[in-house]
Amino acid sequence: MISNIPFDPRLMLIGDAWRDAAGGDTLPLSNPSDGSVLANIARGGAEDVDAAVAAARHALDHGAWGRMTATERGRVLSAVGRAVIEHADELARLEALDVGKPLRQGRGDALALARYLEFYGGAADKVHGDTLPYQAGFTALTWREPHGVTAHIVPWNYPMQIVGRSVGAALAMGNACVLKPAEEACLTVLAFARIAQQAGLPPGALNVVTGLGEEAGAALSAHGGIDHISFTGSVATGSLVQAAAAKHTIPVTLELGGKSPQIVFDDADLDAALPYLVNAGIQNAGQTCSAASRIVVQRGVYDEVMRRMAERYRALRVGPALSDLDVGPVISRRQHGIVSHYLAVARDSGLPIAAQAELVPDAPAGGYYVRPTLVADVPESHGLAQEEIFGPVQVLIPFDAEADAVRIANGTDYGLVAAVWTRDGGRQLRMARALKCGQVFINNYGAGGGVELPFGGVKRSGHGREKGFEALYGFSSLKTVAIHHG
Ligand code: NAD
Repeated sequence: MISNIPFDPRLMLIGDAWRDAAGGDTLPLSNPSDGSVLANIARGGAEDVDAAVAAARHALDHGAWGRMTATERGRVLSAVGRAVIEHADELARLEALDVGKPLRQGRGDALALARYLEFYGGAADKVHGDTLPYQAGFTALTWREPHGVTAHIVPWNYPMQIVGRSVGAALAMGNACVLKPAEEACLTVLAFARIAQQAGLPPGALNVVTGLGEEAGAALSAHGGIDHISFTGSVATGSLVQAAAAKHTIPVTLELGGKSPQIVFDDADLDAALPYLVNAGIQNAGQTCSAASRIVVQRGVYDEVMRRMAERYRALRVGPALSDLDVGPVISRRQHGIVSHYLAVARDSGLPIAAQAELVPDAPAGGYYVRPTLVADVPESHGLAQEEIFGPVQVLIPFDAEADAVRIANGTDYGLVAAVWTRDGGRQLRMARALKCGQVFINNYGAGGGVELPFGGVKRSGHGREKGFEALYGFSSLKTVAIHHG
């Protein structure tokens, strides 16, 4: 048994049963810290997706889940959240093995999952409609109804947090979910499904189909029996999912990539900024959609910011996830190749490397380790300043005037998150208005946190909002009722 949470990674949850894939095949999961095979998961496909969608529909139409009031749903979610807290250490260990995330970050993710369930559990019975002024002799009102069966396709980088925000909100609104985790890492998703089942989530409310994106994921996004898709992942896959959903005109929420800037003005409080500048770039080995991968710095403090960030880089400890250092490996050999390619581009372009962290001497040779790297003086149009690297690599870009900062910050295809560091109140507001993105932080960078704060992108970073109360609107549809009573 891989865990003291009683689940078998080779089985998927469909309705109330843990099942093998219909085709009987499995896929290996690797441990990024040493490259070994960690477990095998079920290779679910179209037949399993059909069964999961049917189980979700059954839960809504004939099961205990569909009969629950909003208050009852909220209580169940809160109970699941408490059960997650009880298992936080074990979930952190599984996440460290599966994703390569240092233990304390994995624990933070487990607590964030619990916090989403607490938040959405409490919110479940606070969503209400309106009565509307209308013609004489009428009463008009609106109420919010669940979409029905919601599909959730999630990536490997923050499985627990993304499941918490997306499935948590969908369940609060009374949908039944079919969840497809990533084939690179899905142990904590399966463990969570087991915890939820044990804590009293009724059968069919949450179904999990593991497997490859092009098999199980594609079958789910093209399925005519679902009513909404929440997709979190890359731009390329997001556009495939949206195209597949369009065949059945199914609404889609897309949470995609980013190239998020932190903008540092000459008057910034650098002591406050420095930890955020570095941590938001190297957390989760840079594999964060809202990673602050561009540090855009006004000339007057550029050298100081570079020097102080470099000091922090040199102090980072990089090694196996279970050793609980600052930075673990990246997820896979493939991701290692992608990040290494960008480091070679930096070298070949002759860009100054301001700092590179070292690996701990005993980091296993088979692990997918990348040395966190700070690249300086990167032109704003350079590939390193434009493309999502998804590894522990940050670029420093100097600027002169406020207008330059706006142009540089907005000058990519993405628009997810930005931060502005300045003491000038007028500039804080001007910048917040001028930045084209879904979230702006002033004098902080709340990347992974902020359960209460709506989150999502503009441009290629996606559309729709998750997190916060706003997500409850996305996971429901508004019905208008006009009653003529004379
Ligand atoms: P990915 O797009 O390769 O995979 C994401 C999910 O989609 C996985 O479950 C995968 O199995 C599935 N999938 C793959 N092909 C599919 C297909 N043809 N049809 C349906 N599903 C398919 O992304 P990834 O590499 O796992 O994740 C990294 C990306 O996710 C980065 O771009 C990152 O910025 C983004 N991301 C965004 C957010 C956000 O909230 N905006 C959060 C985390 C990650």
